[in-house]
Amino acid sequence: MERPRLALHWKILIGMVLGAAVGFAVNTFAPEMWGPLGVRDSAAYMAHRVSDANADAKPVAWVMRFVAELTQFVGDLFLRCLRFIAVPIVLFSLIFAVANLGDPRKLGRMGGKTIVLFLFTGFVSAALGVTIASVFAPGEGMSAEVRENLPGAGLAQAEQAEVSAAAISGWKMALDAVTTNPFNSIANGQMLQIVVMSIVIGLGLTMIPKEKARPAIEVCESFAEAVLRLVQLLMHAAPYAVFALMAGIVGSFGVGVFVALAKYCLVVVGGLAIILFVIYPTLTTLLTRRGNKVGWRRFFRATAPAQVVAFSSSSSAATLPVTMECARDRLGASEDVASFVCSLGVSFNMDGTAMYQAVVVTFLAQLYGVDLSFADKLLVTIMAASLSIGVPGIPGGSLVVMAVVLDSIGVPTQGIAIILAVDRVLDMCRTVVNVSGDTMGCAIIAASEGKLKTEAEVARMGEA
Ligand code: ASP
Repeated sequence: MERPRLALHWKILIGMVLGAAVGFAVNTFAPEMWGPLGVRDSAAYMAHRVSDANADAKPVAWVMRFVAELTQFVGDLFLRCLRFIAVPIVLFSLIFAVANLGDPRKLGRMGGKTIVLFLFTGFVSAALGVTIASVFAPGEGMSAEVRENLPGAGLAQAEQAEVSAAAISGWKMALDAVTTNPFNSIANGQMLQIVVMSIVIGLGLTMIPKEKARPAIEVCESFAEAVLRLVQLLMHAAPYAVFALMAGIVGSFGVGVFVALAKYCLVVVGGLAIILFVIYPTLTTLLTRRGNKVGWRRFFRATAPAQVVAFSSSSSAATLPVTMECARDRLGASEDVASFVCSLGVSFNMDGTAMYQAVVVTFLAQLYGVDLSFADKLLVTIMAASLSIGVPGIPGGSLVVMAVVLDSIGVPTQGIAIILAVDRVLDMCRTVVNVSGDTMGCAIIAASEGKLKTEAEVARMGEA
């Protein structure tokens, strides 16, 4: 009898849990583990500086180093492959999606709906962040001693963010979205610029005679198909890569630092959970049609692989190819809707980030004793929602933009140093929300355009 095959998302989840367990064990027992092996300075050993102290290093220590380096290699290789795909996938699939619509008015309708939806969820998420941070007040009642001892190891990075803050303004961000040199944008992976230029090129193709446009559209279609196929293949490696990434993250960060900032972390995670488990499924249930509803179960089944990759990579740009695949092959959105909405979403739709920024600003204001009036809170909401649009979908992308929001209400930007210590793990969580927002958008836009396959059709497609 053939053994039933485990679904991919379960395999990835198992990889994640095992990786976290291994990382936790290494982080907790590492010093004790190396000692009996004859290696007194494991850090130096790992850094290839095998000093005299390690001259008697045992083969077991060598094996441990090999395993640690191998897991790092596997994780990094996977992320590199995904990043390699991110630029071509946006470029080709967005040009194809826009040009294939044929009629600029159709694009206007779909684009308009998508942007309104994204702005709405961004605003709601930021307002949620300000509200729960005000209600639970994680920054109040912390003793001066605890405050001083908060991990501020990232001061240099905070200062850097402070410097960049001066360079960011609404006008500049809008201007920067338009590239002066498309090749430059591609070479530097400037996602917002690539999105805008692909839409413009696609629009150009709809304005010339069909027979002239066809060759270019077909080339884009072929490339878009090919890269998506590569993603499907790559996903077979995802469980192992996720294992390696999680082992590395938990191994190096440990859990100690979360205790001091526990309330703050709980508020962030709670807010993200409300968006993910309440707001998104409610919106998809309300805004898809009877007979072909995207309820809770369908939404999470379809999005799970992208969520796990987002969690372990902290990068919605790197996860984009997987998000697109999930929207198309697991959720059942048509190719053009999936390409269009996900590509747009990677820079326009960052609800997790918007909520996070709102919580951080409110938390730091409480910590520094800055009183926020209702008008201030409204300003924070608007700024967090609109600035989340410019956040690059990379690990720690929020930090640079955060300084602008802090500046606007007079909270010292150095405060960023306090939250840096726990930022990575919260980053993993908000990236999950960011990519889930894109599949939520695909479900709603595809349903409204009559381009959402039913669950039965998706299942048949999977068997074929
Ligand atoms: N890491 C997030 C993302 O890629 C961005 C952020 O820092 O909020 O979606």
